[in-house]
Order: sequence, then structure tokens, then C-alpha cells
Amino acid sequence: MMQEYQQERGGNMSNPVKGRIHSIETFGTVDGPGIRFIVFMQGCPLRCLYCHNRDTWDPKGGREVTVDEIMEEMQDYIEFIRASGGGITVTGGEPTLQSTFVTELFKRCKEINIHTALDTSGFADIKKVEELLRYTDLVLLDIKHAVNEKHKFLTGVGNDKIRAFALYLSEINKPVWIRYVLIPGYTDGDDDLAAAASFIAELKNVERIDVLPYHSMGEYKWEKLGEKYVLHGVQSPTSEQVKKAREILEGRIAK
Ligand code: SF4
Repeated sequence: MMQEYQQERGGNMSNPVKGRIHSIETFGTVDGPGIRFIVFMQGCPLRCLYCHNRDTWDPKGGREVTVDEIMEEMQDYIEFIRASGGGITVTGGEPTLQSTFVTELFKRCKEINIHTALDTSGFADIKKVEELLRYTDLVLLDIKHAVNEKHKFLTGVGNDKIRAFALYLSEINKPVWIRYVLIPGYTDGDDDLAAAASFIAELKNVERIDVLPYHSMGEYKWEKLGEKYVLHGVQSPTSEQVKKAREILEGRIAK
């Protein structure tokens, strides 16, 4: 189903490439440098147990838009974005599922010198995103778990593809910010952190690591859809736990 949804056509004036988005946030401040215009794409091949964007999973949900429409919506904010050293961030869902659309969008942003960030799980076919990456200034890459079986348990998929994607980004020297969600009992064990740290040590393009404390704020979306939230009752980590994880992971960034 995802493949069917993946758009292969390039689009033109009479038949512009279209994408399906969940929503837009106009003043994001945590998904890349400066003030960000954030586009949430619809559709995701992962099934993270803690997903706080559960309503982005359905590739047929959301609304259809053209690149022109997004550029027009962004117009009013460009001045603020530029002044803050910000840019556009495309997230989801999983934005690489609609790589043709996002490539066109980023091309247009680069024409007017807007910084582009791609927020991805890394579950992407490298061949399908090579062009997109040429117009991407920064990748925000989730490392959800470095141990394959645990990754599978948490997200529904193994992490081989994600590792390959991360190593490719390192090979082409694409700037990356790593995101690691710290979930007590699931990703915060000494072994979990050691595995993530050694994987990060293999990469030579990591500019920053964000340890994101788990929170259950998306739980209501699962309830609304009548679905079981497996992590019900799991508490957020303390600031001490976050600090410790950050130290372990940051300690392995290649200088
Ligand atoms: S990759 Fe993101 S959107 Fe997809 S299931 Fe995981 S947390 Fe949700």
C-alpha cells in the first residue's frame, strides 16, 4: 500500500506533484535551528508504541496539497524564519514515503535560500531518497533502538534499513542531529544506551544529539481511535536519567 502511495511522477505546470499532509505548524522551535515552518506529512510505515502522531499513519488521511500551496502558506513567515536563522522542516508520519513531493518542495525552498530539514525515522530506500537528500541541509534522524529485536518490538520493524540509511548519510557527510527517545524500562538500560552510543560512534556526521524524554501526551489519540496504548502507565524519565543518557550518547560523537 505504501509503494502505491509513493509518488513516482515529477509533476509539471498542468499536473503538479501533490502530497498528502496531516498539518502545518508555523512557529516550531525544536525541529532544527531557528524558527521552523513545519510540514507534517501523512503516512508512516512504522508502528511506534509511543507514537504521538498516531493520526498520521493512514497514507490516505490528511489533505492533498501542491508545492505551490505550501510555498504560499509559508510566505507570511519567511521574514521571521530568515531573521531567526530558521527554515522549513518536513516531518510526519514518515516524509520519505512521499519523497517526490518533498524533493520538489525542498528544491523550491533552496531556490529562495531557505534552510531545509528532513525529520525521519530513517526507514527509507536509499535509491529513492538520493535526490531528496541533495536538497536537504540537515537530517533529524531518530535512533529508536540500536538493538534490532528491541527496535522491532518498539516500532514494528527491524533497524537494518535505518542503520544502512544512517551510514549512507555519514558517507555523504550530510549533517545529522540524532534523536533518541528515552523510555524508562525500554530504551534507558545501560545495554540499550551502550548499543546506541556505539552505533553513533560509527557515524562521522553527527552535529548534535537530542535525548527526548518519553511522554504519554499522544495517548489520547490512541484512545480516540479505540486502540490499546501498550505503554500505558510508563512514567517520563527524570531529568537525572535524561542527563545521564545524554552524557553517554554525546560522549561518542566523532569530533
Ligand atoms: S516513526 Fe514517527 S510517526 Fe511513525 S510511528 Fe514512529 S513516532 Fe509515529
